[in-house]
Amino acid sequence: MLVGTFIFTFGGWNWVPPLLVFFISATLLTRWSRRRSPELFQENWEERGRGLNQVLANGGGGIILSILTFLNILEPHLVFVGFLGALAGTAADTWSTEIGVSLGGRPHLLFSRKLVAPGTSGGVTSAGLWGAFAGSLVITLVGLILFISGGLNWFIVFSSTLAILVAGFFGSLLDSALGVWVQVKRYCDYCLKDTEKPIHYCGYQTRIVRGLPMVNNNVVNFFCSLASAVVAMGILKLFS
Ligand SMILES: [Zn+2]
Repeated sequence: MLVGTFIFTFGGWNWVPPLLVFFISATLLTRWSRRRSPELFQENWEERGRGLNQVLANGGGGIILSILTFLNILEPHLVFVGFLGALAGTAADTWSTEIGVSLGGRPHLLFSRKLVAPGTSGGVTSAGLWGAFAGSLVITLVGLILFISGGLNWFIVFSSTLAILVAGFFGSLLDSALGVWVQVKRYCDYCLKDTEKPIHYCGYQTRIVRGLPMVNNNVVNFFCSLASAVVAMGILKLFS
């Protein structure tokens, strides 16, 4: 509601359908994968859910872009493609996580053979990569419908669609890469489990094993959605 209100107010009505498609698909997928693997949710996924920080991490980039278009600083279509790119990146990340955790088996770390527990940041599976592609594709198709019904010429439709699809997939890969190299990893010495929370769900104070203290999953998600937006706008600029 918060993100939607901002985006409708500043962006306009055609900013709303992609956001709704993202929200509904992410909610259904999360519910489905939680039901499939409740034990993972309990052990590794205390961070998952849709709290305020997570909403701002995933929707903050979209809010910034909607304000940009409201202030008329950049060309409206360019900013809209940036918004769709950011959303495609967020959708790719969500879809790859939920599909990868449920169907992917045991992930290995990006660019490495090291196996990790399902749900670990930076862990990838082929099912997860297909999930990332599908998540990006869904937002791209919503964009395609809006572009065609908006009467844009075929070249702009083609370049904008390609920009969103690539940016979304890129955002999800960047999310995994930052998950491996930058994102904070903590350990609970009481439960002997990996976590990202400073205080574990058992109440025990966790210690940092790797990564930067301030960079949690939300910071990575926020950065990746902005990076996806920039990539989408960059690709579109290359065509024009
Ligand atoms: Zn614990």
